[in-house]
Amino acid sequence: ITTFAERSVALFGLGGSGLATAQALKAGGARVLAWDDNPESVARAQGAEIETANLRDIDWSDIAALVLAPGVPLTHPAPHWSVGLAHGAGVEIIGDIELFCRERARIAPEAPFVAITGTNGKSTTTALIAHILREAGRDVQMGGNIGTAILSLEPPAADRIHVIELSSFQIDLTPSLAPSVGVLLNITPDHLDRHGTLEQYAAIKERLIQGAGLAIVGIDDRPSREIAERRGDRLVRVHVPAHPPREVALPADALIGRDAAVYEAGGDRLADISGIGSLRGAHNWQNAAVAVAVARALGISADAIQAGLASFPGLPHRMEEVARRGRVLFVNDSKATNADSTEKALTAFRDIHWILGGKAKDGGIFPLVPYFERIAHAYLIGAATDAFAATLEGAVPYTRCETLEAAVPAAAAGAEASGAPEPVVLLSPACASYDQFRSFEQRGDRFRDLVRALP
Ligand code: ADP
Repeated sequence: ITTFAERSVALFGLGGSGLATAQALKAGGARVLAWDDNPESVARAQGAEIETANLRDIDWSDIAALVLAPGVPLTHPAPHWSVGLAHGAGVEIIGDIELFCRERARIAPEAPFVAITGTNGKSTTTALIAHILREAGRDVQMGGNIGTAILSLEPPAADRIHVIELSSFQIDLTPSLAPSVGVLLNITPDHLDRHGTLEQYAAIKERLIQGAGLAIVGIDDRPSREIAERRGDRLVRVHVPAHPPREVALPADALIGRDAAVYEAGGDRLADISGIGSLRGAHNWQNAAVAVAVARALGISADAIQAGLASFPGLPHRMEEVARRGRVLFVNDSKATNADSTEKALTAFRDIHWILGGKAKDGGIFPLVPYFERIAHAYLIGAATDAFAATLEGAVPYTRCETLEAAVPAAAAGAEASGAPEPVVLLSPACASYDQFRSFEQRGDRFRDLVRALP
């Protein structure tokens, strides 16, 4: 990244993307002064030969920009101290995506750049788009908020497609964001503790759409629908009718996700996702329809799109089919850390042997009561056991297992013994993992290991 050649850049936040940013700036001839509130991260950066300096003590008049790691608070709930120092010195504040955008504008302004945001489904949709394009023979670089930091990817080039997932934080730090295709999946009031009001959160997401050459917008929530109206042209609307469906006026080029298929509003069926295990559940109709819209916009043929959908392996920890043993299917949905996410899993199956619990969120599992008829038995783990047992009482038989180690064999035995033709052992905890695990990934990995170790 040569944007800051021969100048000094302050960098705060030395996680994976911070280290990649420091290295890319250095390689482009900038002097980087890096810091983090965590001394271990500072030490790690020093080990990687990155110059560190407490940004409280530097001369800010020499600094060309502050590069902030995503997640370091820019405004909400209060600006980070480094943000205050940069503002005081009149120094611009940007993120690694902005560095990528400036580099792209300089070396390959026509290079295809697909940017994906939304409250839910970002990672699935990003991975699905990248997969379809790759299977169609394109040169694809995928990263950003998913997987690899953007500055660790191959640089922009005329026939190389960057498929990048963006969080709101990253959009906020990218003033010149102008992807060739911008995708907004949905906007729901999640994480508002870190974004202020729904209006502020929606306004950040709208910036991605404003800057995009072509915008693809899921119009099933009010804020996204309003963003689509304001956008006007070079827009593909994606609609997944609710049950019961509501009348929505759609132009002929809008796409509709319905009954495990993708249709053009004009009538033609463009793709079929029934029977694709990694795209099970109605929420994936939106993700698939959006991916179809992007792939079409990039000139991928209908056959290649269908083939890409069919071979999508899915993402780990999201409705991941771990194993099939006899009649029993084992599904790892450890990413479901709240009732909303677990609802998606419960609607996708019947005869469920449900492993749940952990550190409960507000509201617990009350919103899931309408799906209790799908559950054969519940296996409770972690701190939420008493609260969840109270909700299940009298409606769903349950066992207090305490640990995943006890729950997996119990659920497997329960499913085995049931008369159902296709019982499912489903880890979809509706809880954070922190009472017993480091992360939802560790919880899902453990589940997978335990399933594989079953006799
Ligand atoms: P993100 O990257 O936005 O967190 P993921 O693709 O990792 O999203 O999916 C996380 C969870 O969100 C899934 O397990 C599912 O429960 C739910 N989800 C996925 N796609 C959608 C969607 N289009 N609308 C609503 N919820 C979704």
